[in-house]
Amino acid sequence: MFLSGTDSAESIWQTIRSHLRAEYGTRTYDSWLKPLALVSVDADTVTLGSPTHFTADWIRNHFAERLRLLWAAQSAAIQHVRIVVENGLKTAAIPEPEQPEAIPATVREAPAFGVALEPRYTFDSFVVGKANELAYNAARTVAEGGPIDFNPLFLHGTTGLGKTHLMHAIGWQIRSAMPGAKVVYMSAEKFMVEFVSAMRDKDTLSFKQKLRTADLLMIDDVQFIAGKDSTQEEFFHTMNEIISAGKRLVITADRSPQNLEGIENRILSRLAWGLVADINPADYELRLSILLEKMKRMPGATVGEDVIDFLARKITSNVRELEGALNRIVAYSTLVGKPIDLDFARQVLADVLKAHDRKVTIDEIQRKVADYYAIKLSDLLSARRAREVARPRQVAMFLAKRLTPRSLPDIGRRFGGRDHTTVMHAVKRIEELRADDSELDADITRLTRIIDA
Ligand code: ADP
Ligand code: MG
Repeated sequence: MFLSGTDSAESIWQTIRSHLRAEYGTRTYDSWLKPLALVSVDADTVTLGSPTHFTADWIRNHFAERLRLLWAAQSAAIQHVRIVVENGLKTAAIPEPEQPEAIPATVREAPAFGVALEPRYTFDSFVVGKANELAYNAARTVAEGGPIDFNPLFLHGTTGLGKTHLMHAIGWQIRSAMPGAKVVYMSAEKFMVEFVSAMRDKDTLSFKQKLRTADLLMIDDVQFIAGKDSTQEEFFHTMNEIISAGKRLVITADRSPQNLEGIENRILSRLAWGLVADINPADYELRLSILLEKMKRMPGATVGEDVIDFLARKITSNVRELEGALNRIVAYSTLVGKPIDLDFARQVLADVLKAHDRKVTIDEIQRKVADYYAIKLSDLLSARRAREVARPRQVAMFLAKRLTPRSLPDIGRRFGGRDHTTVMHAVKRIEELRADDSELDADITRLTRIIDA
């Protein structure tokens, strides 16, 4: 079989490694996947070694299936991928996976129940702004470990605004503030799945036990159990026991309690007893700060201020998309070996931007260019050839070509019935001039921002 020699197995592994790098991006790759080493290949099983228990677990939970598929694609014989802990691997000088510094190694063990906390989601990496400061402050209060005068904490906001991030941050913080505290985090969906399977196995007692012994219980996306009656019943009793035992309860949903349809009233009124904090969509400043924060965690990447500003202005829907866009341009630039500039970012994000873009019209470009250069709109559209109007006209044509889907003849018609070759010449001329003329280049950048805001 072709996988017999370790050499060929090693070369397959190198191929898979480059796939992984391209797929997950440098940051994830360097943190988690790079330290993996090929240990052996026997018959249908590949064994990979990871330097610590923690990283091995993480790989098993997050990448096992992907690894298996990639191996199977390279060699049909492979059916299993095993992750073992191997110290002193060849790749000894491995950077530790990204870990919040405040968390001692002893609290990183797998959760007793629920789902492991994501190491990246800490208070340190959470950027606070007007949109989320109430939620942030409440989360911090719960996480300090001191007495709290509200329980539960209910966080709500639409998707991708940092609810899960805040929950995990609370979990990490409580573990260091109250060593030995039992932290249980899970989605409401998992709560339901676990509950239903406990009922099926006639073992609801141990399910209850595991949840109700938590010192901090966090249930994410509770809207999921809307309309699920027996799950809600169980959920209500769990809430009550946690609260009356003085343990901490944190719940999130994608909407406020008033708007949670299909959730029992007694649950809603329990929620309303606690602190209800909303998270709003981030404004421009917050989006910008979040991007800068994410950049700090990508030491290898160089992304110019103009690109960061562009992302912050354009991707307004939610932070997850914003972060996704940043990751994507960084990953692409590593992949194709190109520096990241505005044009590159536009290209890579074309599909995302299309969804967000408002249509820019030629009219609007003409008006704004005329304004910018303080000339009359009628002059911009006239046949006058004086330089102080001819250059702005060329700039306007260039921008029309670049920012609208209009054809050259179309653009020509809109500029006082000019020929398409005139427009083509203008576009080329501005491109050439821009390369040497930094003032013109800055004008174009500013105009693009004004028009494309
Ligand atoms: P939600 O649970 O509200 O849908 P998440 O907590 O999963 O959203 O956040 C989506 C992504 O956006 C995560 O990667 C998270 O780290 C990031 N994010 C959201 N808000 C912030 C913030 N204020 N600071 C830093 N990262 C944030
Ligand atoms: Mg979430």
